[in-house]
Amino acid sequence: MSTLNTSRRQLIKRAGLGAALLSTGAGQRLWASTPKRKLGVALVGLGYYSRDLLAPALQLTEYCELTGIVTGSPEKIPVWQQKYGIKDANVYHYGNMHTIANNPDIDIIYIVVPTGLHMKYSVIAANAGKHVWCEKPMAMNVQECQNIIDACQKNKVKLSIGYRMQHEPNTQTVMQYASSRPYGAIHRVDTIAAYAGNGAPADNWRMQAHMGGGALYDMGVYAINGARYATGLEPLAITAKRDFSHPRFTEVDNTTSFTLEFPEGIVASCKTSVVESGNHLKVDAENGWYKLDPMSEYNGVSGVTSDGKKLDKFLANQQAKQMDDDALAILNNTPVLVPGEEGMRDIAIVRAAIESSEKDKRIEL
Ligand code: NDP
Repeated sequence: MSTLNTSRRQLIKRAGLGAALLSTGAGQRLWASTPKRKLGVALVGLGYYSRDLLAPALQLTEYCELTGIVTGSPEKIPVWQQKYGIKDANVYHYGNMHTIANNPDIDIIYIVVPTGLHMKYSVIAANAGKHVWCEKPMAMNVQECQNIIDACQKNKVKLSIGYRMQHEPNTQTVMQYASSRPYGAIHRVDTIAAYAGNGAPADNWRMQAHMGGGALYDMGVYAINGARYATGLEPLAITAKRDFSHPRFTEVDNTTSFTLEFPEGIVASCKTSVVESGNHLKVDAENGWYKLDPMSEYNGVSGVTSDGKKLDKFLANQQAKQMDDDALAILNNTPVLVPGEEGMRDIAIVRAAIESSEKDKRIEL
């Protein structure tokens, strides 16, 4: 990786191009003309998201590829090795994943285990000297997030959080509207990030509080992040109500509703659920409105504005785009799109929502 990094950086430097070039897409074209190898990614935790989304997306990426796996389930190993041609030497379990430090085939370790384990394995990955990609929600609390950030800084590796929406072009238009304000002052945001599930057995991590189960951690971060990127501002206060009324949800919330108060008098009305459906983000402004509907599905994120503009840029695969963006940030040594601090801000809001609901009061952030 370092050889490739160095030659790439030297080439850009020699060409006198730098960040402006890279941000226009010319960087990608330049990259295509240089001798290269793709960055190697090891997926940690071969559950639903790794199996159905990330590994297939890693077959489409230009700048990174699947070279390793870390799993606690021996029966998954032959299936993955056969499907993706993973070498015996690149197969790890949780007890020996720190030895990836000695494996030149693996540049990036992508943490895709239950949320309650993100910190533990992200820190091991960073200490192995590898770049860290960590799924959302970043961790259980602010201290855990900070520990991940610190470990990555100490080891001089990059950290990206798996907020795929921030890599999605129509979402990026809404993010850009937050600064350009084409419809004047923003008045309110309405967002829901939810799916109509029916819970899971009590021993599934998604039903366990200490593992980060429940609607607020799982889906709520999309609504929180959405309200933040739609306004470009940080909320000042939150009032939240968690709902445990579904019979299967004793330990974790099945639904949470919350109001975020932003500067400029902007109010965001947010809802998240794992037992009822809904997925949109609407911004009401002085001279019009715009919305994304759906706002965080894997496919078809699109929107419309009050004056009939369509936000309908096509993206073939969100996860491939996210991982290529993050790989390019490593290759070019440029800032990542979604750093640890971004994930940590949302977790601070998740914790404040829990406190607000428990104390039945408005919490200042
Ligand atoms: P799954 O339950 O399907 O898979 C998690 C995997 O983690 C397991 O299959 C297992 O893999 C491993 N694991 C290690 N320790 C444990 C443990 N104690 N209990 C359970 N599993 C363990 O979860 P998902 O794949 O759906 O979610 C994983 C992460 O990805 C979560 O943080 C989630 O929030 C995030 N996610 C993000 C999405 C996005 O759109 N960005 C979408 C879906 C999930 P093994 O058997 O290989 O050890």
